[in-house]
Parts: sequence; C-alpha cells; structure tokens
Amino acid sequence: MRQIDHLIAGGTGGGAGARSGEVFDPNNGTVQAKVALGTSADLDRAVAAAQAVQPGWAATNPQRRAKVMFRFRELVERDLESLAHLLASEHGKVIADARGDVLRGLDVIEFACGIPHAQKGEYTQGAGPGIDVYSMRQPLGLVAGITPFNFPAMIPMWMFGPAIACGNAFILKPSERDPSVPVRLAELMLEAGAPEGLLQVVHGDKEMVDAILDHPAISAVSFVGSSDIAHYVYSRGVAAGKRVQAMGGAKNHGVVMPDADLDQVVNDLVGAAFGSAGERCMALPVVVPVGEKTANALREALIPAIDRLRVGVSTDAEAHYGPVVNAAHRAKIEQWIQMGVDEGAELVVDGRGFALQGHEQGFFIGPSLFDHVKPTMKTYREEIFGPVLQIVRAHDFEEALRLPSEHQYGNGVAIFTRNGHAAREFAHRVNVGMVGINVPIPVPVAYHTFGGWKRSAFGDIDQHGMEGVRFWTKNKKVTQRWPDGSATGENAFVIPTMG
Ligand code: NAD
Repeated sequence: MRQIDHLIAGGTGGGAGARSGEVFDPNNGTVQAKVALGTSADLDRAVAAAQAVQPGWAATNPQRRAKVMFRFRELVERDLESLAHLLASEHGKVIADARGDVLRGLDVIEFACGIPHAQKGEYTQGAGPGIDVYSMRQPLGLVAGITPFNFPAMIPMWMFGPAIACGNAFILKPSERDPSVPVRLAELMLEAGAPEGLLQVVHGDKEMVDAILDHPAISAVSFVGSSDIAHYVYSRGVAAGKRVQAMGGAKNHGVVMPDADLDQVVNDLVGAAFGSAGERCMALPVVVPVGEKTANALREALIPAIDRLRVGVSTDAEAHYGPVVNAAHRAKIEQWIQMGVDEGAELVVDGRGFALQGHEQGFFIGPSLFDHVKPTMKTYREEIFGPVLQIVRAHDFEEALRLPSEHQYGNGVAIFTRNGHAAREFAHRVNVGMVGINVPIPVPVAYHTFGGWKRSAFGDIDQHGMEGVRFWTKNKKVTQRWPDGSATGENAFVIPTMG
C-alpha cells in the first residue's frame, strides 16, 4: 500500500511512527494509501531543519525570493493536470473543480511574486528637526499552517505563498484525509530552488496540531477548518504567545429579492449549493426568498434544476459533482437530513440512498432540498457541509437582512436583485465578512483579502492580499537623527575617507 510520509529537510521518509491514517478513494470507497500521523519528535526535526535555513532566506533579497515563487508558479502550471487528478482522487471533487482548487491557489502565488513591492516599508522625511521615520516589514521566522480537506491545494498556497515570500520558513500540517497534493507542492518548491527545510510538510491529527501550537520556536499559526477546532487552535496558540488567525465554518445565505432574475438565480444557486458536493466554506446552503410569490416561483424552478444535476465519479467530465470525502462524512450529512425532517422542515428532494452504478461503494450522495426551514431549527443554525439546500422564507427585506446578520456564522452572503438601492443597503448593513451582489460565491481575488466574521474567523487578520503580508511579518519602526557636519568636538560628523 502507498505510504504518504512527511517531507522534512528536503526528503520524505522517517514517518514510520506507530500511528497512521487511512486515505480513501472516495469514488470507490477503498483505502488507497496510509498517511503517517506524526509526533512532536517529527515536528522537532522539521523545526531544526527550518531554523537552519530561515536566517539565510530572510537575508536573501526580495527579488531573489520572488524568483523562486515565479519558478514555482511555472512548475505548478506545468503539472496542473497531474495535480488536479491526484487531488480529485483523494478528495472526490470533479477534475474541473480540482483544477480550480490549484489555480485559485496559484493566484495567491502570483501575488507573492510581487513581494518586493508588497513588503516595502514606509518613510517620512523630516518628521521632526533633522528626524526621519521609517518602517520595515521583517519576517517572523518560523511559522506554520494547518489546513482542511476541502481545498488541499488552494488553502496551503494562500498561506505558504505570502509567508515564504516574506522571508519565513513554513511548516504545513495538511488535512490527513487528502495529504498528497500538499507534499507534491512542497516538492515543486524544492524544484523551484527553495532551500531544503524552507517549506516542509508534517502529517498528523490532533497530536501534531497540539505540538505545533505548543512549540516555542513557531511564531505564528494560520488555521482553516471547522469552527470548534478553529476556536481551540486560536485559544491555545494565543495562550502560547503566538500570532494566530483561525478561519472556521460557515452557513452562507443567498437572499432573493422579488425583482431578481430567477433563471440566473436558479443557475447560480444550483452551482453554489451543490458544486463540490457542498463541501465549500463559500457554498450557499441557505436561500432566502423574499415574499411568498418569490418563494413559490423559486421552489418550482429549483426542483427540475436539481433533477438535472448529474452526480458522477471525479473523472466524469459531465458530472456536476462527485462523492463526499469519506463514509463518516456522508453518514453525518444523512443524519442532518433526517434531523431536518424530524424538526418539521419539508424535505422536497431527498438525496439519501443514492448509489452510482458501478461505484456502489463510493461515498456518493444525491442533492437534497428543504423548504419551510425555520431559524430556530438546529439544521439551520449548524453547518451541514454537504449537498443540501435549505429554503428559509422571509416576509420582507428587513427579515431577510436579519437572518444572515444574526446567524452565528458570518463568512459569505449574497443578494440577488436588480435594485441598486436594496443591494447597497444590504451590503452596508449585513453583519457578514464577504458579500456578493448577484455573485453567488463572493470569494475576493488574491490581491484583496479573504476572511469571514463571527464564528467563521477567530483573530483579526484576513488571509492573503496585503493582510497576508501583515500577518506574516512584524513591523519595525525606526526614528533616526544624524548630527550635521557643523558639530564640534566628539560629536563632530566626519565623512570617512579612503586611505
Ligand atoms: P477540520 O476542522 O476537521 O480539520 C481542519 C484541520 O484541523 C485538519 O488539519 C485536521 O487534521 C485538524 N484537526 C482535526 N481535528 C482536530 C482536533 N480535535 N484538534 C486539533 N486539530 C484537529 O475541518 P475539515 O473537515 O478538514 O474542513 C471542513 C471545515 O473547514 C468546514 O467547517 C469548512 O467550513 C471549513 N473551512 C473554512 C474555510 C474558511 O476560510 N472559513 C475554508 C475552507 C474550509
């Protein structure tokens, strides 16, 4: 059986510890590899290798650091198809989605190629008599990232791209459910010319996460995953004196105003709710039609659109989405669906019990649609993270605005309307971090920043863009005064001469 090892000090191996995890092929339900579940001893080896190279990397001028990122970008593009297939084979998403996972990460690498500009400091000449003030953004040293299963290429690149470009060494602890692509990315960084030890991958579960959070040599941790764990990581990391950003779960709403273009909305909703089997933190699993007429028309249009969805294996170019990541996650989604029924919501389309011919053991689940979901229901308050869309009917704009604003999560939200005033009011007043106006998945481009509010993110600093540069650096402020040549005695300023 294939063994997936840590990548420490430029090489794999050494991950033959007592514990390992199973990596499934979600299309067939079989175990395709074993991944090492590391310990603090594995982490210590990675820390030592990182500490050996980081000062030299920090002292490398930013143009040279950027050159490595440029080469890495070219290599990822060269290997795009093999990366996408490897990713899909462990995650289950369809190839087009897997390609998108890699390419959205590459957008952040492209931003990191501009680090000579992005990391520049500020300068004020003559802030006082003969006094200048300037600032410089210095790397933190050794930093780490802990990532979820659902974007095994994009989210690691969100983190290590800017962190490494800024002069840090980076230890990545990817999800143990689909760990192969992160290892390939670290290998490509080596091929691009990064010194051994600059980007390393340690695999593991809670034991490795705790070792990272407690390690005194690691200055900052970026985390993306579910909210309870994000909160835990944030609290424990901050208690250990680290800078921490911890992105959590989501329950994004799409508000549909009576004047919205319904065909467009249905098309957008079906993609945003069911694409990638709903395993996206920016999925739209809740739709809020405003007024009974809108709700009834939307429901009628959604049913046939959902019916047309094709669930298939990752390599099926016609499939809209593939299997979910493992059997345990599918069982959990099915439990949520049953709970929705028990809570009194109307199950309009039931995706349970779906089996794909020839792949009966795969982790497939059909799309589900609920209507008459109430804000008091647990299935509305919690994240399901599967192909399940819930209709929550609102009487008017104010009620539709209150629903996402008062929800515990605040990652993304969208409004569909032709009315600019309604859209503007909504964008200004809604208590959510990322807003789409007629855009179902409002993920900001790489040179802006990404981050939700409330229980969708702990810590103040977003991912990537200039916030990424701020997160991965510390700002040093220098106030300088140089005596002029007219001073006498021991304060005299003498321009050094040769000879
Ligand atoms: P997860 O929380 O189970 O795992 C995330 C990471 O935490 C993994 O590396 C895992 O090994 C580690 N981990 C798991 N259990 C742990 C524990 N008890 N203690 C310490 N570490 C632990 O998340 P997941 O299932 O891999 O990913 C899906 C979740 O991530 C969803 O909730 C989704 O909304 C969220 N997500 C959020 C964003 C965002 O930007 N807000 C982006 C993508 C995914």
